[in-house]
Amino acid sequence: MSSKNSIQKQKVVVCGAGIGGLTTAALLAHRGYEVHIFDQAIVPGGCASTFKRRGFTFDVGATQVAGLEPGGIHHRIFSELEIDIPNATHCDPACAVFLPGETVPINVWRDPEKWQQERQRQFPGSEPFWQLMTKLFEVSWKFQGRDPVLPPRNIWDVWQLTKALRPDTLITVPFTLMTVADALRLYGLEKNLRLKTFLDLQLKLYSQVDTEETALLYAATALAVSQAPQGLYHLQGSMQVLSDRLVTALERDGGKLLMGHTIEQIYTENGKAKGVKVRNQKTGETWVETADHVVANVTVQNLVKLVGAENRSHPIPGYKRRVDKLPSPWGAFVVYLGVDERAIPANCPPHLQFFYDYDGPIGENNSLFVSVSHPGDGRAPTGKATITASSFTDTQIWRHCQDYQKWKQQYTDEAIARLSQYFYLKPETIIYQEAATPRTFVRFTARDEGVVGGVGQRLSTFGPFGFANRTPIQDLWLVGDSTHPGEGTAGVSYSALTVVRQIEAEGSSRF
Ligand SMILES: Cc1cc2nc3c(=O)[nH]c(=O)nc-3n(C[C@H](O)[C@H](O)[C@H](O)COP(=O)(O)OP(=O)(O)OC[C@H]3O[C@@H](n4cnc5c(N)ncnc54)[C@H](O)[C@@H]3O)c2cc1C
Repeated sequence: MSSKNSIQKQKVVVCGAGIGGLTTAALLAHRGYEVHIFDQAIVPGGCASTFKRRGFTFDVGATQVAGLEPGGIHHRIFSELEIDIPNATHCDPACAVFLPGETVPINVWRDPEKWQQERQRQFPGSEPFWQLMTKLFEVSWKFQGRDPVLPPRNIWDVWQLTKALRPDTLITVPFTLMTVADALRLYGLEKNLRLKTFLDLQLKLYSQVDTEETALLYAATALAVSQAPQGLYHLQGSMQVLSDRLVTALERDGGKLLMGHTIEQIYTENGKAKGVKVRNQKTGETWVETADHVVANVTVQNLVKLVGAENRSHPIPGYKRRVDKLPSPWGAFVVYLGVDERAIPANCPPHLQFFYDYDGPIGENNSLFVSVSHPGDGRAPTGKATITASSFTDTQIWRHCQDYQKWKQQYTDEAIARLSQYFYLKPETIIYQEAATPRTFVRFTARDEGVVGGVGQRLSTFGPFGFANRTPIQDLWLVGDSTHPGEGTAGVSYSALTVVRQIEAEGSSRF
């Protein structure tokens, strides 16, 4: 039996059609696998999907994309799949950050020199810190570009990791156990409140945690992807274009996508994944779909539930204990506004971040990350615009609150009042408004408790110490933002590519 024929017969079931699941499915179908992908929602894309209301198109969660430049992860994957790279514009500045009481933002420019001048003006004396970050980023980015497998779980993974190492990678080793706050202390910058707050705000978007906890090596990448030759992009049309193109490639290559189908359980036998229990939400029909590999595009919290659904003793007790011990991840509260263009100030950047109060850490509802559509980008009719504003929120508040609707309205009103300090938001300019809470994310993305953004990038959970794509159950793979958190759709695409390479390597070693 030739190895190619054997590989072609392998069947893969993917649970979830977020960007992680769709990318895995499309790549596997393109490489000759039989792929079935099930998603409980009605539209694919998960946190990077969209919804339409009264002529407006709102991005559910993700609004900006990294990795579209040549060599970037989305670009690489779209090229392999032979599908067109979506049209997009640069986000420049990538973000305009407003600190408490300030009306002039810190602009994170795309041009590296312009960004250097901006930060030197904003944070005098901090350049040695930034130079360290730049050096660590350059080395880490080259390393990442050589497709290491992190964290490694078997000999093949270790080999991929070893192949990606170069002498310059060793520069990063002494920094592996440092946080961003450690580096600030190294340069005597720990008391620089504006710098620390700016870093807290930006890091929190990517790593869930602030400078005190974020791993330095992770931060070096997260903070530098906004600059050329990388950079952040605003997609023409909406975020849905990413999923749509992946679905086109998947179906062209014979893969099957079934929306409105929930995977209720992942079956294992003798430490190996055997298949899944699927339920058609419309008909209520359930069946067992057997597979050679099961790819779970879910949070790691969902994964332990799916494999342990009907087991009194959990099949992966150590793994479950690790997941149970994770600090509670954040949820998101999001306000979606369809507005008249008069609401938008002239030259408004596409992304803004506001922090309202120096008292206390960035947390429950005291900052906003805002995305604004621009004319002709496909999100709003002529003369109108969309504003999407999200804040961090504790998922447990929403789970246990007595009067959900009242609570939601209160958060919405507060968010709009805060946005009104920058935008002209009056009854005559707000055409449509809606809000999403962790409960909404549970319903539409099935993420456990409505947590978003993946596992916090603390020292104990970043890169080499994070959750692997390989799970303790053979042929069960985890893909998505629990394994490659913080870099959104770009990160989950790396995660997908790694799983595809691992599945392929397993196939060739078996035959
Ligand atoms: C408010 C907010 C703002 C964000 N901003 C950005 C940004 O600007 N840029 C960026 O790149 N990223 C951003 N992100 C993060 C980014 O959206 C996510 O990290 C990424 O989209 C996650 O993709 P995923 O494939 O891991 O999972 P998900 O998007 O969670 O997709 C998982 C899919 O699996 C399905 N599913 C789950 N369980 C089951 C089951 N049992 N059976 C069947 N189907 C199931 C779900 O319905 C869902 O479609 C943001 C996220 C949020 C919430």
